[in-house]
Amino acid sequence: MVKFLDLVGQYNEIKDEIDVAIARVIGSAAYIGGPDLTAFEEEFADFQQAQHCVGVANGTDALEIAIEALDLPSGSEILVPANSFVASSEAVTRSGHRVLFCEADAVSYTIDLDDAAHRVTEKTKAMIVVHLYGHPADMAAVMTFARKHGLKVIEDCAQAHGAEFDGRRIGAIGDIGAFSFYPGKNLGAYGDGGAILTDDEQLARKSRMIANHGRIDKYDHQFEGRNSRLDGLQAAILRAKLPHLDTWIDRRNAVAQRYFDALGDLDWLILPTIADNVRHAFHLFVVRTDHRDALQAFLKENGVSSGIHYPIALPDLGAYDYLRGPDTPILATKLAPTLLSLPMGEHLTESDTDKVIAAVRSFQP
Ligand SMILES: *Cc1c(COP(=O)(O)O)cnc(C)c1O
Repeated sequence: MVKFLDLVGQYNEIKDEIDVAIARVIGSAAYIGGPDLTAFEEEFADFQQAQHCVGVANGTDALEIAIEALDLPSGSEILVPANSFVASSEAVTRSGHRVLFCEADAVSYTIDLDDAAHRVTEKTKAMIVVHLYGHPADMAAVMTFARKHGLKVIEDCAQAHGAEFDGRRIGAIGDIGAFSFYPGKNLGAYGDGGAILTDDEQLARKSRMIANHGRIDKYDHQFEGRNSRLDGLQAAILRAKLPHLDTWIDRRNAVAQRYFDALGDLDWLILPTIADNVRHAFHLFVVRTDHRDALQAFLKENGVSSGIHYPIALPDLGAYDYLRGPDTPILATKLAPTLLSLPMGEHLTESDTDKVIAAVRSFQP
């Protein structure tokens, strides 16, 4: 079977470095906080070209804390693209605000700003931009849009570690960015983990306080925060992996190139696109076809695993019954039954990609 994800293979590739990192943390019992966390925060900020990094417990918390740090009036509206993982919108509601779903763009799969422009009201105070599948949103257009409408920009970078827009890494181009280190992400921990990036010192300080019970000293709490930590073991593991990430992303791009070269002529299959001025992180390689379910079953019979991201558009989830109306976005709903994620990752060999390509090509739509 060509694997969709191979975390054991990845561990074996860098086993010595990971084992040393884990032993270092256990040997010093630096489980909460500690030198590896501090070092990882610096190294990850550097890697993403941001001024500040705050490690937190997971990517969903990163989004929630980032939104909370912005201190928007409660009940503010926040724009969210309709095709994403539920955390992107969940974080808005959990932090006391209201989701305004927007259409996703059918080419980049990121937020459709023309559609978003029609949805902005007086109460709209921020937007969440998701660099979906690892392709950066058009951050030049996003920042112009946000300035025009007076909106804060939160980047959901859970799928886009290492991606670049116009030569700059994503994450701190907007006001604040949220990352996930869920094991299957391009940079994954051995459990849950997340981080917040920003160039704004005040936002970094506020985020760090929210994630740490609102404290400024051990028992001095300025407000009620919460407990959301990136633990020492995860930080050490992430530090061991970070130096490999650029190479892994290059390998992902090489896999994508092989798919582009070999599948581009199939008229029943729509391949992803890459904008000129970006580095795609290729967390996922998502194709579209009207024969999605048949293709997925055929691939499985031929030893190729695949995924669907996401089978139900956010506005169609039961959780959002209360938001549905005549203006509810429709494109993500139409696209959902056509999306299929082919195997993608640094684990794929040329013979793996050949096998995927041969299977797709022999499918009779
Ligand atoms: C994975 C993911 C998240 C949430 O991250 P967790 O670490 O699982 O909480 C948020 N947004 C997107 C787009 C994701 O893919």
